[in-house]
Amino acid sequence: MSRRCTRCPRDAGAPATSGRRHSMAEAILEVRDLVKHYPLTQGVLFKKKVGAVRAVDGVDLDLAAGETLGIVGESGCGKSTLAKMLVQLEQPTAGTIRYQGEDITRLSGRALKAVRRNIQMVFQDPYTSLNPRMTVGDIIGEPFEIHPEVAPKGSRRRKVQDLLDVVGLNPEYINRYPHQFSGGQRQRIGIARGLALNPEIIICDEPVSALDVSVQAQVINLLDRLQSEFSLSYVFIAHDLSIVRHISDRVGVMYLGRIVEIGRDAEIYDHPTHPYTQALLSAVPVPDPEARAHRERIILYGDVPSPANIPSGCRFRTRCWKAQKRCELEVPLLEVPAVFRAGEGPARHPSACHFAEEKHVVPTEEELGGGPA
Ligand code: ADP
Ligand code: MG
Repeated sequence: MSRRCTRCPRDAGAPATSGRRHSMAEAILEVRDLVKHYPLTQGVLFKKKVGAVRAVDGVDLDLAAGETLGIVGESGCGKSTLAKMLVQLEQPTAGTIRYQGEDITRLSGRALKAVRRNIQMVFQDPYTSLNPRMTVGDIIGEPFEIHPEVAPKGSRRRKVQDLLDVVGLNPEYINRYPHQFSGGQRQRIGIARGLALNPEIIICDEPVSALDVSVQAQVINLLDRLQSEFSLSYVFIAHDLSIVRHISDRVGVMYLGRIVEIGRDAEIYDHPTHPYTQALLSAVPVPDPEARAHRERIILYGDVPSPANIPSGCRFRTRCWKAQKRCELEVPLLEVPAVFRAGEGPARHPSACHFAEEKHVVPTEEELGGGPA
């Protein structure tokens, strides 16, 4: 049974939700104020720095052992950059990533290698992330070249065949090449490779976005099964709230390099408090025709601002129907409420909106800025 998180006051009196394993255990990954800015330069020969692309701009998150944290946001909001920092493929500009209590952002040599073994990644596009000239056996077994202690040479073939079996592929396919597989099968190969070193955490960066809808569920079910089988923790990235719904214990919504709302999946799906989440949710497909007929879409007008030119105050204010002067001046923080207020039930989940406490009312077209001029 998982322990309750002593560092997370929200869990103190909260009832355990039914169904999925829950995020009550100690955090194995703690991310604080994580930033990745890419310099924006001008000129060909003498590159002059003229600004910065603020791809990730102050992310805080915790991942508990055995949980799945979904991260959702539109293309370009910094999800992959965040993922790459979590697996040490990108060096953060600032901030800390604590893995089992130790900051891993400045590690090198043997210590870095050990951490990398435990935090693996499954990439978005199984068509480009697998080397077409390598056999499946070599692709899945490649991590053993760096970590021979996990599988000594003589046992590798057997180990790769076991991994193929675990992800639902025929072990006899070991000598085939990636082009001989379908998209879903290729993603299974990517997952087998991610599992090879027996990691604790897998960062899944849009693992099903490049796949046909018909195979998306199969790959998600596989990840779900592997999580129980190997006691894995996942950060599961998607651009659509409907994809993470069935696999996530908690969901964080990202906008322009920051998490703007985070909570247990029921809190996010049933009681979203950030206007951006409300808009995203209003676009999620609803299977029930009755509910679909009564659902009101919130269509956001205007483009997402450039991460090189993020609005002052609340970064969502340029597209928000609730925006007021305060939103221009004051950055809304994503604060974890310290205590449950007596008699009021659980305090609200963290939401970076000055007006998160307000009742959600579907805005009119005019309020959204797309109505009659
Ligand atoms: P997502 O995965 O959510 O689509 P990314 O993390 O890939 O977003 O990108 C976030 C922002 O950072 C985008 O504006 C992207 O163009 C920019 N970006 C990503 N990688 C680089 C890089 N290596 N150099 C400059 N800008 C980058
Ligand atoms: Mg991406």
